[in-house]
Amino acid sequence: MNERCEIAVVGGGPVGAAATLALARQGFEVVLIERGAPPPAFDAANYDTRVYALAPRSAAFLDALGAWEAVRRARVSPYSAMRVWETNPERGLCFRAGDAGRGELGWIVEHGLILSALWARLEALARLTNAVIESAEFGASRARLVLAGGRSLDARLVVAADGADSPLRRFAGIETVARGYGERALVSHVRTEQPHRATAYQRFLPSGPLAFLPLSDGRSSIVWSAEETVAQELLALDDAAFRARLAEASERVLGEIGEATPRLAFPLRLQHAREYARPGLVLIGDAAHTLHPLAGQGLNLGLADAECLADTLAAARDAGRDWSGARTLARYARARKAANLEMLALTDALDRAFRLRVPGLRALLAVGLRAVDRWDPVRAWFARQAVGV
Ligand SMILES: Cc1cc2nc3c(=O)[nH]c(=O)nc-3n(C[C@H](O)[C@H](O)[C@H](O)COP(=O)(O)OP(=O)(O)OC[C@H]3O[C@@H](n4cnc5c(N)ncnc54)[C@H](O)[C@@H]3O)c2cc1C
Repeated sequence: MNERCEIAVVGGGPVGAAATLALARQGFEVVLIERGAPPPAFDAANYDTRVYALAPRSAAFLDALGAWEAVRRARVSPYSAMRVWETNPERGLCFRAGDAGRGELGWIVEHGLILSALWARLEALARLTNAVIESAEFGASRARLVLAGGRSLDARLVVAADGADSPLRRFAGIETVARGYGERALVSHVRTEQPHRATAYQRFLPSGPLAFLPLSDGRSSIVWSAEETVAQELLALDDAAFRARLAEASERVLGEIGEATPRLAFPLRLQHAREYARPGLVLIGDAAHTLHPLAGQGLNLGLADAECLADTLAAARDAGRDWSGARTLARYARARKAANLEMLALTDALDRAFRLRVPGLRALLAVGLRAVDRWDPVRAWFARQAVGV
C-alpha cells in the first residue's frame, strides 16, 4: 500500500512530537511515524528517572502548542537559582532568576510527562503511524519512506527526529562530526539532608560535572557525568557506598544523601550533522546534534529547531514561495546551525577546561567564575543566557 502526505515526521520523541504539533497547527498535513508504542498516560505515583531542565523559551513553545498547561498541572519543579563551583560551593558562581528579571530560571520536567502531554494533543491533529522505517529515498519533489511490512509513504518533505543514531540521516548519507566523551552520565533521584530551596547545583570535578536538579517532592535528581572507569566504579558500588561517594563528591552542599533510586547510565558523545537539510529531508533534535548534558540544553535546542522549522516553512508558504524547496530549508539550517554550534562549542569547552589537569588553567577559570559572580552586569548577562532571553 502506498500512502501520501505533505510532511512525514519520523520519530515521536519530545522533539518529533513537538514538531508534528507545530507543523499541524500551521496547517500542514502531517504524518508522525514512531517505532515504539504511544507513551503511557502520566502516573503521579511514578517519578520518571529521566528529567529535563527546560528553559522558559521551551516552556513558552510548549504553551503555544497547548501542552504546557497539562505538564504544569501534573508536576513541574521551578528552579530560581543555580550554583556552580569547583572546589568550594561558597566560592563559585550563583545565577539567580532575579538577575534576568524573572521569577524562575526554568523548570525540571519529567520525560514521560512531556511526551504524554504532547501526544495527547497530537491525536486530533495528525495521523499517527506505529512502524519502523526500513529504507528511504529523498528527492527534490518527493521523498519515499519504506515501512516495515512493505507499506510505503510518499511525502513532499521528511523531517528526521529519529534521535542521535538517526537511521534517516544514515539513509541520506549525511555525515557527522562526532567524538565520544569517554564519559557516562549516571542519573538517580536522591533525598538530601538539607532542602534544595529550588536551586540547581553543579560541581565541576576533574572526572566530570555533577549536577543536582531540584524535584517538586523535595528530592533532587542527580546527573553525574564521569569518565568511563569512574562511572563503572560508581555503578558497581552498593547503595550505601554510592550515597557516601555522592555526599563527598558534592562537598555535602545539601548534606548527607538519605536514599537514592536505582542508577541509570547514558554514554555521552558530541555529535553534529555536517548538513541539516537535503532535498526532501530536514534534520531536527538529536538527529542533528547531541552535546554534553552539563548545560542541560539538548532538548531545549531540539525544541527550538522544531519551532524554527514550523515557522520557516509556514512563512515561505504564506509568502507564496516553495515551502519545501532548497532555499527554505537552507534558511532553517542557517538559523539553527549557528545557535546549536555555539552551545555545542561552549559546553564542550567547559567540560574540557574543567577536566584538564592543568592547575593554572583551572585556577584561572575558578577565579573567572568568582569574578563573574561579583560583577552584577556580567552575572545578569549569564543568567539571561541561561534562561534564553
Ligand atoms: C543524562 C542526560 C541528561 C539530559 N538532560 C537534559 C536537560 O536537562 N535538558 C535538556 O534540554 N536536554 C537534556 N538532555 C538531552 C535530551 O535527552 C535529548 O536532547 C532529547 O531527548 C532528544 O530528543 P529527540 O526527540 O530529538 O530524540 P529521542 O528522544 O531519541 O527520540 C527519537 C525517537 O525516534 C524514534 N525512532 C528512531 N528510529 C526510528 C525509525 N527507524 N522508525 C521510527 N521511529 C524511530 C525512537 O523510537 C524515539 O522515540 C539530556 C541527555 C542525557 C543523556
